[in-house]
Amino acid sequence: MRTDFDARWDELAEEVLSGMKEWRLRHPKATLRQIEAALDERLGKMRARMLQDAALASAAADIKAAHASERPVCGECGSQLEERTVAARELVTQHNQVLQLERSYGVCPTCGAGLFPPG
Ligand SMILES: [Zn+2]
Repeated sequence: MRTDFDARWDELAEEVLSGMKEWRLRHPKATLRQIEAALDERLGKMRARMLQDAALASAAADIKAAHASERPVCGECGSQLEERTVAARELVTQHNQVLQLERSYGVCPTCGAGLFPPG
């Protein structure tokens, strides 16, 4: 199954590969440590983007997969909660790469109570 980030991931991988080749040509006498640092920097960026894309895809799949009967109900009035998405929160992962993750939560259409899932 192809996903909407397939093309983007190909691009990311290509950036790492061509970026490293170019870097190596510009640093013909680089030490193993320097090569490692250059590679880690590029892989770190790719890693962060892949993590973000995959996490967002999971969140989207969760919402689509939840049948109406499985959605949580309001603890106050028993109405079925509606799914809302809130602004991205930022997480910093390895190599100081920033991830932006959206977070979904349920809100009651009747009384306005909100329910944030754990995690
Ligand atoms: Zn309610």
